[in-house]
Amino acid sequence: MGLYRDQGIVLRTIRLGEADRIVTLATQGRGKVRAVAKGVRKTKSRFGARLEPTSHVALLLYEGRELDIVTQAEVVEQFRTVREDLDRLTRATAMLEAVDQVVQERQANAGLYQMLLGALRALAAHDAPLIVPGFFWKLLSLEGFHPILDRCAACDGPGPLVAFDLVEGGALCRGCARGAIGVSDTALTLIRRILGGDLAGALAQPASPATAEVERLATRSLEHHLERRLRSVSLLDRA
Ligand SMILES: [Zn+2]
Repeated sequence: MGLYRDQGIVLRTIRLGEADRIVTLATQGRGKVRAVAKGVRKTKSRFGARLEPTSHVALLLYEGRELDIVTQAEVVEQFRTVREDLDRLTRATAMLEAVDQVVQERQANAGLYQMLLGALRALAAHDAPLIVPGFFWKLLSLEGFHPILDRCAACDGPGPLVAFDLVEGGALCRGCARGAIGVSDTALTLIRRILGGDLAGALAQPASPATAEVERLATRSLEHHLERRLRSVSLLDRA
């Protein structure tokens, strides 16, 4: 145990007593870190508003058994344009919550950290409709979920593909589509571009019915994945 330096993004904070907060961070070097920031709620706090959700900070921490202690915090990026726009802040918060559920305590996940930082920078620079869904699809991919998008996920046929099924984990042809969520060709193409190395091209798309579809599917896929994971974790806990 001792002092260490790391960079992190504040995911959320909760009150602790009269003046302190527990800050949950996604860090570059240690995955999820939960740390106490003392006196953060006093008006003359030395941390001021530095430790707010979305803040990208450089930290000096003292390692504790369960909770670390923040001894210094410098702002690297504050993402003011995100904080001052309720719509962007809501969407940033959705990404922070997803990361909070996925990132493991004290396990470095540099890929996830860089992805979150990149998505916050993109959201701060311009408010593209596919930033958050693009982040969700990439997060699912990082978690090992790669949707089948080039053939039917149920029968392996070539299509045409007309639906998307969360349980099968991909697109479905007309014959297999019963009960699944309908999906347009344009939306499938956008998801292929997000996952196939053309995220920048997908982010340049203006809002359309297809981007709305991609967003709905991304959210439902992520929820499905997290729920399944939470369930398997709770089963493990009971065993
Ligand atoms: Zn099929």
